[in-house]
Amino acid sequence: MIIDCHGHYTTTPPGVGRWRDAQVAAVTADPAHVGVKGAMAVTDDEIRQSLEGAQLKLQRARGSDLTIFSPRASWMGHHIGNEHTSRFWTEHQNELIRRVCDLYPANFAPVCQLPQSPGTPIQGSVAELERCVNEMGFIGANVNPDPTGGFWTGAPLWDRYWWPLWEKLCELDVPAMIHVSAACNEQFHTTGSHYLGADTTAVTQVLTSGFTRDFPNLRFIIPHGGGAVPYHWGRFRGMALDNSWDFDEAVSHLWFDTCVYHQAGIDLLVRVVPTSQILFGSEMVGAVRGIDPETGHHFDDTKRYIDAAPLTDAQRQAIFTDNVQRVFPRLQLPS
Ligand SMILES: [Zn+2]
Repeated sequence: MIIDCHGHYTTTPPGVGRWRDAQVAAVTADPAHVGVKGAMAVTDDEIRQSLEGAQLKLQRARGSDLTIFSPRASWMGHHIGNEHTSRFWTEHQNELIRRVCDLYPANFAPVCQLPQSPGTPIQGSVAELERCVNEMGFIGANVNPDPTGGFWTGAPLWDRYWWPLWEKLCELDVPAMIHVSAACNEQFHTTGSHYLGADTTAVTQVLTSGFTRDFPNLRFIIPHGGGAVPYHWGRFRGMALDNSWDFDEAVSHLWFDTCVYHQAGIDLLVRVVPTSQILFGSEMVGAVRGIDPETGHHFDDTKRYIDAAPLTDAQRQAIFTDNVQRVFPRLQLPS
């Protein structure tokens, strides 16, 4: 059983983009625009079509079984509009993921996004998390550490602002993938510097604050192989020793996925990070969709790198299956 912990619905039918475009146009014209949730015109056939030639085809071709699936991260766009904008958009996106998982229960398991409009109380996100987990069977959430889209003017992850959300994640026993959305600050490229910088930032905030000691059951997935962290493992360990930060305690709350798109990167990841803290992920169909001319294979076909990495069969089994099940206890595997 090979479980991919990191997939987004990047190939949505046109009705999704049309709904969002109209919403963004309305709130651009009037920043106080509330609007209504309304309906998103997407048929089941369109959903099937959007997946059959993409994620489902690639699952079969690459030999993975199930993808933990969430709304397109770069489209979360928490910085756009006001709290109503993000709330209606988020509810639609999560309901769409539920439909995908109902159509293909053997292939996808649902993870939600949260409304997280900047400057609004975290309680709106807590409520949506509860709705998704308790009423719709979701098994995890994506949490954007920077809803401002690259300006980082909100509260750091250790701030009390976030605590009601951390408490709810622990209570529901679901993990959070710490995942930013598109950058609206032109200093940053969304999937290049913004994503990897945010991954590194999230780990550093956990390490330097030690706030996870207050949440023994809190589990964060750090995507994209952990940004710069595995490569700079020695720097972080050294800083921890210099400052009396508890490095091992921080790492015990963090899982790094394998969305690293070359063999040498994966080799380093599995050598440096304890196997117990690594989850298989590919983020297909995502940031890098082409074929590596050096290998003849897709950059994001990460299963190949794990297969070829210096790992025992038991370690591979942990990364492909067992660790994901531990981190996502609500995941029910198809029998
Ligand atoms: Zn992602």
